[in-house]
Amino acid sequence: MDKGTEPLESLRREVRDWLEANAPKDWRAACTGHAAFLDTQRGWFAKLAEGGYAVPHWPAEWPGGGRTLAEQKVIYEELARADTPRLLLSFMSTYHAASTLFEWGSAAQQAHYIPRILQGEIWCQGFSEPNAGSDLAALRCRAERRGDVYVVNGQKLWSTMGQFADKCLLLVRTSSEGAKQAGLTYLLLDLKAKGVTVRPIHQIHGDEEFAEVFLDDVEVPVADRLGEEGQGWAVAQSTLSSERGLTLMELSARMRGSQWRIADLIRASGREEDAGVLRDFGRLATKIDAAVAIADQFLANRIAGEERVGDASLVKLTYSRTLRAFTDLGVRLGGIGAQYHEPIVFGGGMETGNWMADFMNSYAWTIAGGSDEVQRNIIAERLLGMPREPKGWTVGAAA
Ligand SMILES: Cc1cc2nc3c(=O)[nH]c(=O)nc-3n(C[C@H](O)[C@H](O)[C@H](O)COP(=O)(O)OP(=O)(O)OC[C@H]3O[C@@H](n4cnc5c(N)ncnc54)[C@H](O)[C@@H]3O)c2cc1C
Repeated sequence: MDKGTEPLESLRREVRDWLEANAPKDWRAACTGHAAFLDTQRGWFAKLAEGGYAVPHWPAEWPGGGRTLAEQKVIYEELARADTPRLLLSFMSTYHAASTLFEWGSAAQQAHYIPRILQGEIWCQGFSEPNAGSDLAALRCRAERRGDVYVVNGQKLWSTMGQFADKCLLLVRTSSEGAKQAGLTYLLLDLKAKGVTVRPIHQIHGDEEFAEVFLDDVEVPVADRLGEEGQGWAVAQSTLSSERGLTLMELSARMRGSQWRIADLIRASGREEDAGVLRDFGRLATKIDAAVAIADQFLANRIAGEERVGDASLVKLTYSRTLRAFTDLGVRLGGIGAQYHEPIVFGGGMETGNWMADFMNSYAWTIAGGSDEVQRNIIAERLLGMPREPKGWTVGAAA
């Protein structure tokens, strides 16, 4: 065995053995409702945290953290191979909340919040609003400082897992003066606070992954502000960049670990010798390898302090297009059987083998965290230096 890969192969065996003993069994059949979903997710997260595999991407000073990129990839691939539940419930907590706290949180904020995340506290993200999605800086949810608290009024939309969350990463407007971005402030909201109402949103494929959050004279202590007042845009970029880069290393590695589903489909339909099918599978495998390599390079650049504006968008765009190709091939190879709408497995992940649901769900990643079109704009304008989109342009404006 190559000396360089030996430690990785030994980690792979260690994780595989651990998963054999600890991975939940038959959870897909059970997770058809929220109660089972919550139980499975909470139990699995606690077990992973105990085993030291819940947060391999965290810095070394935190329990379970400090894994190299190569080690993280091995862990994620083995989690996918063992068909374990994807941690949908704690995803925002361990990635979005934690990485923003690591970058912007004071020592006191980190000491308070990070251990609670490891104990299973659930976070959601409250950025988008009915008229502020791609144009996030247009958000209107208002916070007014009164002594030691901010008083918040407004509405947030599409907060993933918001209905189950304890805390919320909240982006608010504290000023309407000057540039739109300059008037934003970043708060850590307790969703149990007086004046907060959370309503789940029912989706077309039967799940309820999001919620809308209404804020009515909600008091948030000034001590729960991340960064300075008016610095919210910069803090939010850290959260978004974690969604467009960091989380996607896990998702890309998981996708690579799930390729056996396509191989199984090919075998089950007796098409191992079909050149067209093998070509399509080969193309997909190449795309997945490229997506994994781009995500890895992004993280390596970030660790080296060499991340460029737009790099995270490149990772996000590559992942979302590859996921579409993966689920599209699943639907095509699955034939008529893949056209049935099987019941949704709550928290099932992105490549579950319920091909029609997977295919519909793959569109979510072309919108979440900034749509593909917006990522292309960022890559074109900020990474490649191409001419900027004209301001104030609307469909039909030229007519
Ligand atoms: C699965 C999922 C999870 C999400 N989770 C969260 C969450 O937890 N918290 C949260 O705050 N939000 C969340 N969102 C919301 C998400 O951030 C927004 O949906 C996204 O930013 C797009 O905003 P919008 O829906 O208002 O669409 P719009 O901004 O209205 O866009 C509509 C269409 O116009 C296109 N478009 C807009 N501007 C441009 C432009 N300048 N150039 C070219 N095309 C453009 C878009 O690409 C899109 O096709 C989630 C969304 C999804 C799908």
